[in-house]
Amino acid sequence: MHRREFLIGSVLSVSARAADAGNATWTLENDRLRVTYAWSAEGWFRLASLEDTRTNRVWTTPSSSSVGVLRLGGTGGLNLGPSTLYSLPTVTQENLDNGLRRLVFVLEPKGVAAEITLEAEVYPGHPFLRQSWRFKNLASRSLTLTSAAFFDLGFQAERQRFRAFRVNQWVDGGLKGNFETEQTELGPLGKPWVLESGSFSQHCAWAALRDSRNNGLTVGWEFNGRAQMWLEHELANTLLRLTGFITSLNQPVGAGQVFQAPAVFVGSFRGDWDEAGYQTQRFVETALAAPMPDRQIFPYVAWDSWGYEDNIDETLLRRSADVAARLGVELFTVDLGWASRLGDWNADPVKFPSGMRALSDYVHAGGMKFGLHLPLLEADPASSVIRQNPGWTSSISDGFYGAVSLCPGHEPVKQWLTSEALRLIREYDLDWILLDGVNLVKVCTKTTHTHNARNSNYANSVHGIDEIVAAVRRQAPQAAWENCQSGGRMMTYQMVRECATSITCDDTAALTTRQAIHGATYPFSPRYTDRYLGEGMVNRYNLRSGMFGGPWMLMQRITEWSEEDIATASAVIALYKSLRPIIRDGKVFHLTPRPDGTRNEAIQAYSPRLDRSVIFVFRHDGPETSLLVRPRGLLPNSEYRVRFQDTGTIQVATGRDLVTSGIEVPLIDMDSAEVILLTPNNVEDASAQ
Ligand SMILES: [Zn+2]
Repeated sequence: MHRREFLIGSVLSVSARAADAGNATWTLENDRLRVTYAWSAEGWFRLASLEDTRTNRVWTTPSSSSVGVLRLGGTGGLNLGPSTLYSLPTVTQENLDNGLRRLVFVLEPKGVAAEITLEAEVYPGHPFLRQSWRFKNLASRSLTLTSAAFFDLGFQAERQRFRAFRVNQWVDGGLKGNFETEQTELGPLGKPWVLESGSFSQHCAWAALRDSRNNGLTVGWEFNGRAQMWLEHELANTLLRLTGFITSLNQPVGAGQVFQAPAVFVGSFRGDWDEAGYQTQRFVETALAAPMPDRQIFPYVAWDSWGYEDNIDETLLRRSADVAARLGVELFTVDLGWASRLGDWNADPVKFPSGMRALSDYVHAGGMKFGLHLPLLEADPASSVIRQNPGWTSSISDGFYGAVSLCPGHEPVKQWLTSEALRLIREYDLDWILLDGVNLVKVCTKTTHTHNARNSNYANSVHGIDEIVAAVRRQAPQAAWENCQSGGRMMTYQMVRECATSITCDDTAALTTRQAIHGATYPFSPRYTDRYLGEGMVNRYNLRSGMFGGPWMLMQRITEWSEEDIATASAVIALYKSLRPIIRDGKVFHLTPRPDGTRNEAIQAYSPRLDRSVIFVFRHDGPETSLLVRPRGLLPNSEYRVRFQDTGTIQVATGRDLVTSGIEVPLIDMDSAEVILLTPNNVEDASAQ
């Protein structure tokens, strides 16, 4: 269920418990997690402990002044941090009908004319705490916030060692990042291990760490702007510290005004990085993620017109729609080249004499959803919006196909972009927006804009792209959004709240695609890894390299296909559709290391709900002609039918035997791919085609 649908069941005023010697504690718990906040008589406020009630691992904060919940600095000497003293907080508990429990703390820092409201939430069935805070300026003058740790946690770390794990985004066309995973031991570094997240940064907005006994924490943050997360094991203080900072903050807060810090979630897990990822993904799908547009058939099989580049018109696209419908395509997207100009968001009257709505109606009549490419923040210098408002550009343009960039942190720009997106959805009856461009969080130092000249990171994310997408989705919820800014370059949980899916690598090569999927399926559920399939790629190896994950975007010139091509692709599409329920909700097991081309590889999705697995096995150009695949997650005592997709060979074995002995998969040729289905032996194998 989506957050906006929650109803408040009850709101209670909560008194502090155990108010001995003036100390006070409050507990927030569900069936998986118990979280305790504490206020000491001296005035220190902190998250005191976080206990996984299934594994009994307790993460305890030292009762010293070195750990608080936030840090905030600004003009006029504002400096809130771990040693800040607060008056006894006012606390309310909200119990929502869907089982969500929320504690709201109102904290008054001593000697500062301000109020901090900290919200902490737990959702039933998930060992996760979600926390956020806001600052209200109670002074009569405005101030500027110049630094903010939206998250600041520290846990006792006696006799423990910690390994930490992070994942790159798609960076600089893959040259500096294609979802590689990295891990390190924290203590010996002697300094924080820093993740740089947000639009155009290096890492996904997620980290995991685990102790020597494989009890771990995963943390994710909901911010599209640039941020840093510092993970540090301070050996001298026996302290494990997690601190998340907003980069380049210069947010003015007027008298009586409020600053909202990004929300963070932290969860407990026991096991390996696959388990850390899976727990994260299940929580995010329950608590945060934008709803799937069509649960029965999502992730879609899509077709996108970019195979023809911008040489598109209504005749070609109608013929494409006819073929796409025959293939079983569910979403038909018109890519770049449809508009009169970038920024002039009207269908080119020469290419589309009947108008875009006529094509949309035609596609809908063919039983497909209709999507449109929209690099919303980019505009041609000759477009009306730029000619009429030359001051609306951001100070740095990203150079998207000769366009200049608009600054959505500037209030009139935001309003125009919002109304344009709404107009397009309504006029063209859009089901899908392919949100493209380069950097969606613009860099702008203009002093003529409504945002502070040195605050574009926060202003252009929170008050820019986030508010635009939120406003459009509120008023036109029928359109789903795809994050596609030249690749997965904004892999954050704020993006996940806004979009139904995201591209991963902006590259159609088979090995590159599999590398991206390998890394991206740690932090993000498989539906947030869509892939585009290029021209000249209709063979088994290429098709299967793109099948694992979210929406599958075919991008070929399908009007040029033979009947045989159509029959081949139709069969593959039918296979994709039969596998997608297993992959979409499944736990991803990365059975082999990141694909490097030289070693044979395997990746598995196991759906606990269906007790079914699918395993994709690949050989690129390595020397080995087989791979021994050891599936995971199976029920030891159940019998499974193991079916090889190509040969139709079927084996029957118990889960225990399969996990211990493995499955020998022949891969005779280079560039070969096999798909293996594991189904309970006692049910009809409806998934196999
Ligand atoms: Zn600006």
